[in-house]
Amino acid sequence: MTHPNAHLIGQQGGRRALATPALVLDKAAFEANIAAMAAAAKASGLALRPHAKTHKCKSVAARQLAAGAVGLCVAKTGEAEALIDTPGLKSLLITSPVLGPSAPNRVAALASRIDELLVVADSDLGADALSRAAVATGVTLGVVVDVDPGIHRTGCAGPDATVALAQRVAGLPGLRFAGLQCYAGHAQHIEDYETRVVIGQMALADLAESAARLTALGLAPPILTGGGTGTFAIEAGLGVLTELQAGSYVFMDVEYDAVVLTQGGASPFQPALLVEARVISANTADFVTIDAGFKSFATDGPKPVVIGGAPAGSEYAFMGDEHGAIFAPLALGSTVTLQVPHCDPTVNLYDFIHVVDGDTLVDLWPIEARGRSY
Ligand code: PLP
Ligand code: MN
Repeated sequence: MTHPNAHLIGQQGGRRALATPALVLDKAAFEANIAAMAAAAKASGLALRPHAKTHKCKSVAARQLAAGAVGLCVAKTGEAEALIDTPGLKSLLITSPVLGPSAPNRVAALASRIDELLVVADSDLGADALSRAAVATGVTLGVVVDVDPGIHRTGCAGPDATVALAQRVAGLPGLRFAGLQCYAGHAQHIEDYETRVVIGQMALADLAESAARLTALGLAPPILTGGGTGTFAIEAGLGVLTELQAGSYVFMDVEYDAVVLTQGGASPFQPALLVEARVISANTADFVTIDAGFKSFATDGPKPVVIGGAPAGSEYAFMGDEHGAIFAPLALGSTVTLQVPHCDPTVNLYDFIHVVDGDTLVDLWPIEARGRSY
């Protein structure tokens, strides 16, 4: 491997010598998160299909599958292409409607490379295009009809539209009606648990009614999929979904640390995804400058939180594309550890995950689907 940090693997203290900024994964926290979600899904009798949009990484995905996940979700066709040969992967669901001149054919081309390829549709146009691509390629695609949870982002608007599209899918050549999806994106980050219960329940109402009507019509949906890190504990108790699609739990981030994830209040998950950065300039009285700015963290959420290498409570501030400030008197060349504000778009900024065990770099995992948003 030619990565500039590869020679540090296995060296005591190698973490402090990394070429920075480096995306770092705390091995113990990561493994605990995988085990905690696997146990929660098992206890509730739901299948777990973790969302790989969070990590875009085969090495992470393979560990989720080894812990009992029934398959994976991806958001986009490009992610599906990059992750299709993940060891242990038997079922893959593309959770965003597939449209455009090339995407349906690319999806159909993937179907023969896996036991089960599932893809979401929320329109007649989308379903028809998938049918034509499947027939032309000689494969059968499982189509999951997406139901709008009330955000009006994707999904059929209400049970009438959902039932009609499911019936259309069931009648189209090359397609199999595989179930319904409803992901309550607007509920995930509501910090208060009880409020999230109410919003989460409302979000699944159309999915539940659509499923009941389809069952009465002899078209029972085999899969009812949805849920995220913010709502998995709620959905596990509602008895509507058959599988959970949570993604962020595997890494956690500053945003999700602010959310009370379970009724008891204690978070089942630990911050596992970090950025190691270095002090590269220290010529100002109040702060030092590190080598991590807009290109190192997603900027849609809160600020990164300093968790190591600086006095507790030291603040970070963005200083541009390449730079950030740490308001502490740190030594030039020293390293600082920050928790990422929002995990998914932060991962997309890096080529490799640096797996660490304490101060030792233990592995480098390529982020195969980084940039594959097409
Ligand atoms: N399912 C869908 C359709 C999503 O868009 C997402 C994330 O945005 C997830 C599941 C995973 O949710 P989370 O990262 O909140 O666990
Ligand atoms: Mn996210």
